[in-house]
Amino acid sequence: MASIVVLGTGFAGNTAALNLKKELGDKHDVIVVSPRKNFSYVPSLVWVGVGSMQPEKTQFDLEPIYKKHGIIFKEGAAEEIHPDSRDQYVVVKYSDGKTEQIKYDYLINATGPKLNYVATPGLGPDAGYSDSICTLPHAVKTRDNYLKAVEKMKQGKRQKFVVGTGHGMATCQGAAFEFIHNLEFDLNRRGVRRNADITWISNEPALGDFGVGGVVIKKNGNLVSGKLFAESTFLEKGIKWVERAHVRKVEEGSLDYVNIEGEEGKLDFDFSMLIPPFAGIPIAYIDKDGNDIKSQMCVPSGFMKVDADYSSAAKPFEEWKNSDWPKKYNNPVYKNIFAAGIAFAPPHPISKPFKAPDGTLIVPSPPRTGMASGIIGHTVALSIIDIVKKGADEPTQQASMTEFGAICITSMGKSMTRGSAALLTMDPVVPNYEKYKFGRNLNYTFGDIGLAGHWVKYMLHYLFMWKMKGKFLWQFIPD
Ligand SMILES: Cc1cc2nc3c(=O)[nH]c(=O)nc-3n(C[C@H](O)[C@H](O)[C@H](O)COP(=O)(O)OP(=O)(O)OC[C@H]3O[C@@H](n4cnc5c(N)ncnc54)[C@H](O)[C@@H]3O)c2cc1C
Repeated sequence: MASIVVLGTGFAGNTAALNLKKELGDKHDVIVVSPRKNFSYVPSLVWVGVGSMQPEKTQFDLEPIYKKHGIIFKEGAAEEIHPDSRDQYVVVKYSDGKTEQIKYDYLINATGPKLNYVATPGLGPDAGYSDSICTLPHAVKTRDNYLKAVEKMKQGKRQKFVVGTGHGMATCQGAAFEFIHNLEFDLNRRGVRRNADITWISNEPALGDFGVGGVVIKKNGNLVSGKLFAESTFLEKGIKWVERAHVRKVEEGSLDYVNIEGEEGKLDFDFSMLIPPFAGIPIAYIDKDGNDIKSQMCVPSGFMKVDADYSSAAKPFEEWKNSDWPKKYNNPVYKNIFAAGIAFAPPHPISKPFKAPDGTLIVPSPPRTGMASGIIGHTVALSIIDIVKKGADEPTQQASMTEFGAICITSMGKSMTRGSAALLTMDPVVPNYEKYKFGRNLNYTFGDIGLAGHWVKYMLHYLFMWKMKGKFLWQFIPD
C-alpha cells in the first residue's frame, strides 16, 4: 500500500487529491493536510471585494467531500518535511498545538503562496494601510472599507481609489485589473462614480503585460496588443495609470513609488487595494542528521525547486529558453516530492525585467493561475498513479507552461444584463519565441469583450465549485 500526502486544498492540491483517489481506490491512502478545511474559490473574490457577491458563495467545507471520496483529511499545517529518513515524513501542527508525524511514499507540496506583505513597509490589511483580495477574510475587509468610501461619496465627498500591485515583484496583475474594473462598474451602479478619482499602479513593463510578457491577439484579421486593449479600457472609463512602478512604502492615506526610469512619486488615497508579492509557505526541510536542507530544496523566496533550469535566472532575458521551464514538477534531489500550483519555483520571470537606477528590480513574478495550478496538480497526480500502479520509475506525465495554453476571463462588471468580461485565450502561457513569431499560436490566442464574457465567468464559478466538490461527473470538467 502506498501513502500519498497532499499539502494544500487549493486548485492544485484538491485537483491532485480527487484524481489520485479516483484512480488508486481503497488499496492506497490519499492524505490531505491543510490548515483550512474550506475550499475557497479565489477568482470570485474580486466580486466579494465590492460587495457584489456574498462571501459564503465562494467557499465550502471539504471535510464531508473527502469523507465521501475516501480521502483522509488532516486539518493542520505542515511545518517540517523530513525527506531523507528511512520513513519519510511530514510534521503537521494542529490548532491545539499538538503535532503529528505523517509518513509518505509520495508527497505533493501544493501549499500556494505566503502573502508577503512585509516586503513593502505599510502594505496589507493586517499591519498596514492597504486592502487586499487574496483571501476571503481580506476580501470581506476590503468590501467593508470600500462601502465606507461609497457612503462618503453619497454625502458628496470626493474619494481617491488606488488599485494595483504593492511591490516591484508582485504577481496577479490580472486579479487587480479585474478588481479596478469591477470597482468602477460598481461605483456607476451605486450612482457615485462622479465623486471618484481612480488610479491604477503596477509593476508591469507596460499596461496589458499581466506578468506573461504581454499578449498579441488576432482580431478580425488584425493584430492587437494587450497594451492597446488595457489602455483603451482605462481611457474609456477615465482611470489614470502609473506603470513600471515599485511601491516603496504605504502610509495612512498615501503610497510612495519609484519607477523604472528612477522617477519618484506619491499617490494619495482614501481606499487602496494592492496585491502583495508572494513567497513560499515557510516549511522546514530537515535531513536525517537534523540539518536544515531548505536551500537544497527551495529557491531563496521559499518556493520549491522542481525540474526547471534555475541557473537560467542568471542569464539575460534574451537567452531564456523554453527548456528552462519544468515539465514534471518533481524535486531533483528527492524525486518522490512534487510541487504543484503556486508552490513550485519558476526558473525566472516571464516578462522582461527592468531595474530602477537605484538597483530596485521591477518585474512581475510569473502568474500560476487557477487553471495552470489545476493542470499541474492533475499532471502530477497522473504521474504518481503510473508510478504506484504500473511501477514506472519516474514521472510519466508532462505539462510545461511553454506548451499548454490558458483561458483568462477578466471580469469588468458583474451584472447579468449590463456586466461584461474580457475573454482571452493564450497558447501557450509562457511565450514560445522559438516556435512562434509573436510567442504564441495566433490561431488559439484570441480575445473579445462583452456581456457574454460575464455569463461565461459566472457560469465557470458554479462549474468549478461543482468540480472542486467532486460532484457527479466532476472528472469530465476540464482543469
Ligand atoms: C483575487 C484573485 C483572483 C484570481 N482570479 C483568477 C482567475 O480568474 N482565474 C485563474 O485561473 N486564476 C485566478 N487567480 C489565481 C488563482 O486563484 C491561483 O492561481 C490559485 O488559487 C493557486 O492555487 P494553488 O492551489 O496553487 O494555491 P492556493 O489556492 O493558495 O492553495 C494553497 C493551499 O495550501 C494550504 N496551505 C497553506 N499553508 C499550508 C501548510 N503549511 N500546510 C498545508 N497546507 C497549507 C492553504 O490552506 C490552501 O488550501 C486569482 C487570484 C486572486 C488572488
